[in-house]
Amino acid sequence: MAWTNSKDSALRERAQAVIPNGMYGHQSVMLMPDDYPQFFSRAEGAHLWDVDGNRYVDFMCGYGPNLFGYANPTIDQAYFDRAKLGDTMTGPGEEMVLLAEAMTKQVTHADWAMFCKNGTDATTMALMIARNHTRKSTILVAKGAYHGAAPWCTPLKNGTTPSDRANQIFYDYNDVDSLEAAVRAAGTDLAAIFASPIKHDTFIDQELPNPAYARRARELCDEHGALLIVDDVRAGFRLARDCSWALVGVQPDLSSWGKAIANGHPISALLGSNVARAAAGGIYVTGSYWFSAAPMAASLVTLKMIAETDYLERTIALGERLRAGLNESATRNGFALRQTGPAQMPLIMFDDDDSHAKGYLWNSAMMKRGVYFHPWHNMFICAAMTEADIDEALNAADDAFKVVRQSGPLGPVEKLSFLSRAMEGA
Ligand code: PMP
Repeated sequence: MAWTNSKDSALRERAQAVIPNGMYGHQSVMLMPDDYPQFFSRAEGAHLWDVDGNRYVDFMCGYGPNLFGYANPTIDQAYFDRAKLGDTMTGPGEEMVLLAEAMTKQVTHADWAMFCKNGTDATTMALMIARNHTRKSTILVAKGAYHGAAPWCTPLKNGTTPSDRANQIFYDYNDVDSLEAAVRAAGTDLAAIFASPIKHDTFIDQELPNPAYARRARELCDEHGALLIVDDVRAGFRLARDCSWALVGVQPDLSSWGKAIANGHPISALLGSNVARAAAGGIYVTGSYWFSAAPMAASLVTLKMIAETDYLERTIALGERLRAGLNESATRNGFALRQTGPAQMPLIMFDDDDSHAKGYLWNSAMMKRGVYFHPWHNMFICAAMTEADIDEALNAADDAFKVVRQSGPLGPVEKLSFLSRAMEGA
């Protein structure tokens, strides 16, 4: 079936009238190559169908929640069974205790758990607990890191005040000197150091954590009585069956979780060690849907699958197959790719492509061939993918390289021109 997007276009036009900009936030395709679909009808396993019926092998996995495949029958059965009995009630079900037990069993540093809905809820709670614990204000955050969309951390300052964003000092991820300088600048007011488990910022190469940096962050927090917070919302359980910094031998005081912990059902979590328990009990946080039982039931099954299946090894092997195949195909077609980050969370960009023009054309050609890639955000491999899915992506990639090779000289991507303007202004 030839690729068409008439239904998507019509919906987008109607959306313009009733939704600001037609769409907002990270799932807006405003900054994606032209024609990327905005609206979807169905998702199953590793596959996604847009409203026009085009099928994609989906390498975005819902921006992270899809770990065991969309509509995973075992996880969804637990969700539906619990929903039938009662979901959002006047109080939580027993699942809340079972899930707190399961999470603290799974994650080494954690002695307690609190549940919420979005990653931003969990990172904001971490911030409040650190300030309550230390009675200090200043937090250190890596430049360019994403921790959510609340006024203190949303990447666009519009609608926030300087006081919303006060008491933050920025450091360079993986750079011990820069981290130490930021700690000095905090003086006697250090409440917390925030770190993402890997550097997974948009538009730039990903970086694995330098163990010396992670260890120094731990030491500096200990020296100053501050809390170390690992924001595992995006990478949690994709790198390890524990907090991701277990891989570099560093245990935080708090870790924030979301996305994959219930395979797409709405729940997030903040985990903490006993050091932070009293402070966690001393803040007021809540939400109408935070105690809903069905997502907790789904999360319990997801955690069991995390503990008992080889999903992690599978996603790594599939990611490595994709990485090797893309390198081979790129070289054969005369291109050099930069494939950064863990194989199961790949970010793929072209060398010599500061304007992203090659990347945009290549991604667009992949999309039209049924493979949903992202040109500037890390992607995800899910455990429902098969080698056949990876090979389908590799075939599409090979054709897409030819499209880029055969195109004439490429102009800059107009919709990204704000980026170069922002850089000039920086
Ligand atoms: N932290 C990180 C590292 C994230 O990747 C995200 C979401 N992409 C968040 C926090 C915020 O999560 P949410 O969108 O669920 O609020």
